[in-house]
Amino acid sequence: METGNTISGLKLETAPDGLEGPGFFATQFDRVIGMARKNSIWPLPFATSCCGIEFMATMGSHYDMARFGAERVSFSPRQADLLMVMGTIAKKMGPVLKQVYLQMAEPRWVIAVGACASSGGIFDTYSVLQGIDRIIPVDVYVPGCPPRPEQILDGFMKIQELVHNESLRRRNSEEYKQLLATYDIK
Ligand code: SF4
Repeated sequence: METGNTISGLKLETAPDGLEGPGFFATQFDRVIGMARKNSIWPLPFATSCCGIEFMATMGSHYDMARFGAERVSFSPRQADLLMVMGTIAKKMGPVLKQVYLQMAEPRWVIAVGACASSGGIFDTYSVLQGIDRIIPVDVYVPGCPPRPEQILDGFMKIQELVHNESLRRRNSEEYKQLLATYDIK
């Protein structure tokens, strides 16, 4: 049964603001693209340890990340737009992670899931990267050791907000190029 923007309990995406009249609806291109991208994110899980297990639970039927249009998990960087880094990243693994990031096409987003990916976590040691933002830009950090699936979903929804509201021009902006330059990425 349809009520407002829900059908049988399912929440439907709200149409972007625009001009409406008999037989037409006009809105901004950015908003339509943002809406489509937000609901069709393809995540690439880069999981090295325990936080990866929480991700598995997040993809399972109980938490079901497919509800957000993100059921198509990609293990090819070229067919993914959200890099989810979960687990302890050893310094030796840093170049591999960076290469995966570089192989992703723009626009791409990154979540650091858990304390290890965000800051090195409890492993304040010579061999562990003290946060993946030392080598690639991060959009959202999810705290916890490990974070619960609800927290991972919350982080994912924050990414959805960013994706939805991002200007199509951002990736060509000087500000963005400068951000990449700080990571020695051209
Ligand atoms: S944050 Fe905690 S649970 Fe996650 S990978 Fe590190 S040690 Fe494991």
